[in-house]
Amino acid sequence: MSGFDLIVVGGGPGGSTVSTLVAAQGHRVLLLEKEEFPRYQIGESLLPSTVHGICRLLGVSEALAEAAFMPKRGGTFRWGTSPEPWTFSFAVSEHFSGPTSTAYQVERMKFDKILLDNARTKGVDVREQCSVVDVVEEDGRVVGVVYDDPDGVRHTEHARYVVDASGNKSRIHSRVGGKRYYSEFFKNLAMFGYFEGGKRLPAPNSGNILCAAFSSGWFWYIPLTDTLTSVGAVLRYDAVERVRQDKEQALADLIEECPLIADYLSDARRVTTGPYGEIRIRKDYSYSADKFWRPGMVLIGDAACFIDPVFSSGVHLATYSGLLAARSINSVLSGELDEARCFEEFEARYRKEFSLFHDFLVAFYDMHQDTDSYFWKAKKVTLSSAPALESFVELVGGGASLETGLVDAGSYDGVRKSAFKELKELADRPTGEDGTDRDLFESELVESVMEEGTRIQLHALGAGDDADDVSPVAGGLVPSADGLHWAERG
Ligand code: FAD
Repeated sequence: MSGFDLIVVGGGPGGSTVSTLVAAQGHRVLLLEKEEFPRYQIGESLLPSTVHGICRLLGVSEALAEAAFMPKRGGTFRWGTSPEPWTFSFAVSEHFSGPTSTAYQVERMKFDKILLDNARTKGVDVREQCSVVDVVEEDGRVVGVVYDDPDGVRHTEHARYVVDASGNKSRIHSRVGGKRYYSEFFKNLAMFGYFEGGKRLPAPNSGNILCAAFSSGWFWYIPLTDTLTSVGAVLRYDAVERVRQDKEQALADLIEECPLIADYLSDARRVTTGPYGEIRIRKDYSYSADKFWRPGMVLIGDAACFIDPVFSSGVHLATYSGLLAARSINSVLSGELDEARCFEEFEARYRKEFSLFHDFLVAFYDMHQDTDSYFWKAKKVTLSSAPALESFVELVGGGASLETGLVDAGSYDGVRKSAFKELKELADRPTGEDGTDRDLFESELVESVMEEGTRIQLHALGAGDDADDVSPVAGGLVPSADGLHWAERG
């Protein structure tokens, strides 16, 4: 009955990853994408684990090098108590120095197309301009999808598994049977546009993401090429009235409010034509589904969860969940392991990674407290007004979570009180001898956030050692030697 082994809905980084890694095992994979690529998407600043881990596993390292994306050594932040921006570099991580310690800033139109074309090359049946409208169920199991082709003709296709990788506007995510929980703490909105001719940080940090806190929120400033820059402001949700009317004026006013960004853009002009010509607004983007799978159906990437852009975790979570889902699907299709066990492993590991980033980002926001500002004060109030909690530090120290619907505290150890404090102390420390550098990796919290990404990178380099890989599930599974299946711990 099954026409395909797997149908993937959506051709962003999550969908391309899972489809390629399942097709690589000789399975029949169909990917349905609503748009025709290249298409615009936000989410341009990547982490090393995506570039040197997942992308290497996918076999696109050369294509990425040829695309000559902007190398990113780390991040530069005007954040915390220091009035001077400070910089952290991926290169100080104990495992990576040299070429694999960098990531890229990417134009998503180009990056996503490289990944989708690669999926096609690796045997995935990719059909663009095909919009999925629903899933097909039989006896409590999802067994296929219904979609409209480019001529508007409706089709049904069957498969052993359907992966929803259709992003935050997914039409089918609720068919997995759960609810989406939205974050109170990260209830923000983002307004963004593109500029030509903005300044660059001094070498060697000219490709870094620059994040600058100001009274109404914070700005990202992402150099995409030598001259093109992505600039966005993250604001309180209720700033929606302020930005809705005249977007051009609102963005200009916000830039004026933030002297560092105003200075960097002093000789720049906003791009007003083409795909980068629009000023865009995104809201309601920080959430998590309370179920990530059911028999026959899996959610990955933004269809499952996303948390605030400040540390560039979106594409990492999308591609990482694509890898976890591929391991589970490959293991079941080859008859090696039981479905429930594989997908419980998928969900536990994915939730753990999401939870770590969530808690790290809450701590990172807490590093910057401007008690005179509405944005930052409101964050503090949200934290301290949680019932039955004396302070957020105790909350985090206890391994519990402020946002209990969003983060499954039981699935991981929780970040420790000391680690949380350590990060705060690091932020408050005077800048280093050269006036800028600060080693975020000194913080245990950051080490733990980067741990899984580091493991994927080592795997992709053929240097994987899973001896210390502990499944969040009691008696759980570990990655196979090739990283594309699950295995019993040996
Ligand atoms: P997407 O990239 O959204 O891809 C989903 C695909 O599914 C799309 O191509 C869409 O056309 C297709 N689709 C949708 N519906 C259907 C349908 N019915 N049928 C068929 N196809 C369909 N992440 C980072 O890593 N770094 C950043 O700097 C960063 N900045 C961000 C800033 C903001 C303001 C926001 C909101 C997010 C940011 N992100 C960032 C997050 C990043 O955008 C996402 O996490 C990432 O794009 C998720 O990838 P995905 O593959 O899950 O989904």
